[in-house]
Amino acid sequence: MGGYDPSPKKEYVIEKRVAIVTGASRGIGRAIAMRLAADGRHLVGIARNTDQLEALRVEIAAAGGSCEMHSCDVGDGLALAAAIEEVAERLGRLDIIVNNAGITRDGLILRMSDEDFDDVIRVNLRSAFVACRTAARPMMRGRFGRIINLGSVAGIMGNPGQANYAAAKAGLIGLTKSIAKELGGKGITANVIAPGFIDTDMTSSLPAALREAVLPAIPLKRFGVANDVAAAAAYLSSDEAGYITGHVLSVDGGLAM
Ligand code: NAD
Repeated sequence: MGGYDPSPKKEYVIEKRVAIVTGASRGIGRAIAMRLAADGRHLVGIARNTDQLEALRVEIAAAGGSCEMHSCDVGDGLALAAAIEEVAERLGRLDIIVNNAGITRDGLILRMSDEDFDDVIRVNLRSAFVACRTAARPMMRGRFGRIINLGSVAGIMGNPGQANYAAAKAGLIGLTKSIAKELGGKGITANVIAPGFIDTDMTSSLPAALREAVLPAIPLKRFGVANDVAAAAAYLSSDEAGYITGHVLSVDGGLAM
């Protein structure tokens, strides 16, 4: 990190730890956002859908939490970096980032287009790279950081029809382990959460036959819920998890073991 800015620590504008969650508008990202806000973080939600973000803002505020929302396409690297920089600059700190936004463009390899491959890499992997690079500087300045990237069992085991998605999720593991080694000396941890089958909009479109076929392979004999993943994110982003880095935490009912 040749660009490390050794300038003295800035005054924090707020005392709470600041946590950015991408893809916060629904599903797993929304559950993580709600949980981090409930745990006393100042939650910064990033997603594209402004109506869903506003509903999240109202819900967190009603529960007494502190938050703000930003509409941004994480596939647009310049816009994402600008949004993260603006938050860190204005609040004087950035403590936690959860790179959760993700898409699927499934298809068998013989028929998978370059566009479907590139879109999945851009939204799932490149966005996390841009976010980690941008977040590293304010985290180094604060000498504290918790980076969490949302992987998948597909990135560990592979999955037919998901060559693009599995490649992106496997790439996130290499990215995360590399930055864990680069940034560890600055008090920054970087970990992956690898969910299995979690009931969200992303999995609701799967054929019923496929869902039924998967269930027997899950030792805990149920699909996960978004809060199962949120609990893992709450722990890995906590001060107490300061000696865990470069880890891939499966939240999959035992599917990938
Ligand atoms: P979801 O489709 O319900 O939600 C995805 C979120 O990402 C939404 O908020 C969406 O708006 C946001 N998003 C997508 N593209 C975006 C973009 N270009 N810019 C900004 N925001 C964007 O999915 P989910 O099930 O909640 O999945 C969340 C994460 O967990 C993803 O990274 C996914 O790959 C991963 N995951 C999910 C499962 C599962 O079973 N649901 C399993 C393994 C991994």
